Amino acid sequence: VVLAAGSGKRMGTSVHKQYLLIKGKPVIYYTLRAFELSEVDEIILVTGADEIDYCSREIVEKYNFQKVRAVIAGGKERYDSVYEGLKHVTSDYVMIHDGARPFVKKDLLDRLVVGMEEHKAVLAMVPCKDTIKRVKDGKVVETLIRSELMQAQTPQAFDTVLIRNAYKEAIENNIQATDDASMLELQGKDVYVVEGDYDNIKITTKEDLK
Ligand code: C5P
Repeated sequence: VVLAAGSGKRMGTSVHKQYLLIKGKPVIYYTLRAFELSEVDEIILVTGADEIDYCSREIVEKYNFQKVRAVIAGGKERYDSVYEGLKHVTSDYVMIHDGARPFVKKDLLDRLVVGMEEHKAVLAMVPCKDTIKRVKDGKVVETLIRSELMQAQTPQAFDTVLIRNAYKEAIENNIQATDDASMLELQGKDVYVVEGDYDNIKITTKEDLK
């Protein structure tokens, strides 16, 4: 499931960040290409309701992506978009990936495949390089122990039934989360770490595009 239904508020451009160009091609092209060339069987592309035609024509058809089985409408928040995407998944395992992370590499996908078959729930993570502090009203409240902290990336990979059930319960109970693994963590389920990649950034602000 590749997510491209965000509005990209933090980017501050009128064009949604997944369609901004890198070397003449849209960000989402690179993301889809990584999965097209991987072991995955099929891709569900989640985008804005009014971008389905554009995405189908200008991305999927134009660049001849063969594995994109459906282009569907996402929802208001990321978790709504994921939930919609999961309804279309027919395989036993699923990877959920931010369309705004175009630099995902094959070796990371390979590590995730191995991990998900062993553990049923895995995500790519990298150790935090910076010290992270909790801040309220411009004042430091707490400094977290850096050696214990890691940054969550995508893809996050799961047994399909496990993650779909977790999302269903979360949505029904109005539980919100900014990543997929959290949905299982909140239910007390184990989630395992796969070594991520510092290059696998999420294009969020203008600096990231550079
Ligand atoms: O907002 P955030 O940076 O966490 O978004 C991560 C990914 O989720 C992006 O690729 C974005 O397009 C997608 N997203 C979505 N539906 C939303 C919000 C974000 O598919 N409602």
